[in-house]
Amino acid sequence: MSKTAVVCGGGGFIGSHLVKRLKGEGYWVRAVDIKEQAFSPTVADEYILGDLRDAEIAKRAVTGVEEVYQLAADMGGMGFISGENDSEIMHNSTMINLNIADAARETGTKKLFYSSSACIYPQRNQQDPDNPMCREDSAYPAEPDSEYGWEKLFGERLFKTYGRHHNLDVKIARFHNVFGPEGTWQGGREKAPAALCRKVAQAPEGSTIEVWGKGDQTRSFLYIDECLEGVRHLMESGFGGPVNIGSEEMISINDLARMVIGISGKNLNLVNVEGPEGVRGRNSDNTLIRAKLNWAPSQPLRLGMERTYEWVAAQVKAQIKQTAAAV
Ligand code: NAD
Repeated sequence: MSKTAVVCGGGGFIGSHLVKRLKGEGYWVRAVDIKEQAFSPTVADEYILGDLRDAEIAKRAVTGVEEVYQLAADMGGMGFISGENDSEIMHNSTMINLNIADAARETGTKKLFYSSSACIYPQRNQQDPDNPMCREDSAYPAEPDSEYGWEKLFGERLFKTYGRHHNLDVKIARFHNVFGPEGTWQGGREKAPAALCRKVAQAPEGSTIEVWGKGDQTRSFLYIDECLEGVRHLMESGFGGPVNIGSEEMISINDLARMVIGISGKNLNLVNVEGPEGVRGRNSDNTLIRAKLNWAPSQPLRLGMERTYEWVAAQVKAQIKQTAAAV
């Protein structure tokens, strides 16, 4: 008998890769999402196209499966989570989480994974681009810099409480900037790695690309395969988290842009323009994950960025061809 799982948000970036990963491990997989999978056909055994803000859909989602992976959320990169969409983010993601927590309780779910975020960490510890501090036990007193972060913190507490009261084995990871092929690369919800790949791929030789903020703000970025490896390690472990799943290879946004330019082989300049930049510095601290799971991400950023640039550049090329054919 194969194991069974549902991936809520299984049509999204991380969710669709997780569906593939679980299928590869021999699982029977249900995916649930409000939209069809964007860039390739789903490999899920069952795909429910439905809104998890609807309690009945949430119940259908978790019924009859052993493992629930809750990744559905209203989210995006800095351009999306930095103010204008805050009420939708808080309302929609909270409703999804409440429905899934209740449905898991009602149907007797045994194991549930929840994707939290590095955005829960206090702003005060992320003011120095060279020395950010994101250790798991630094989350409180809480002071996230975005409503998205506050909502994730509430999600953590919600699932932990349901876990405690309803015999539910809850696993929580705080993802740090996950990237890779088949992630959103245009439209306003894209994150820095995909956005920079797009800008570079679209830029004519010798031109200049725009980078938001001063460019000295720092982050770390985790390739999708390593993210999933971490999720699976956590699910198979006796540890519940919250635990960081992120890379410790910190880089400034300008250096990330230069890396992408280098990968493209183009001769481009960059200019820093006003734009949302979030906290000044953020990096994963992997002390806890090493201690608890005996594992941590190790792949160099450049490798993942090469694969991602190749994929985004192919999307850009296909779009240009399509536009040319339409005129
Ligand atoms: P994503 O936007 O690609 O995936 C989220 C999916 O949830 C989307 O496919 C979306 O359609 C679906 N969804 C939204 N509202 C829904 C609803 N009402 N009903 C059903 N489905 C709904 O984002 P992602 O990058 O794959 O992120 C997955 C999870 O990981 C999210 O919870 C996100 O907050 C978290 N996370 C991601 C990152 C990252 O760097 N990508 C970092 C930290 C945390």
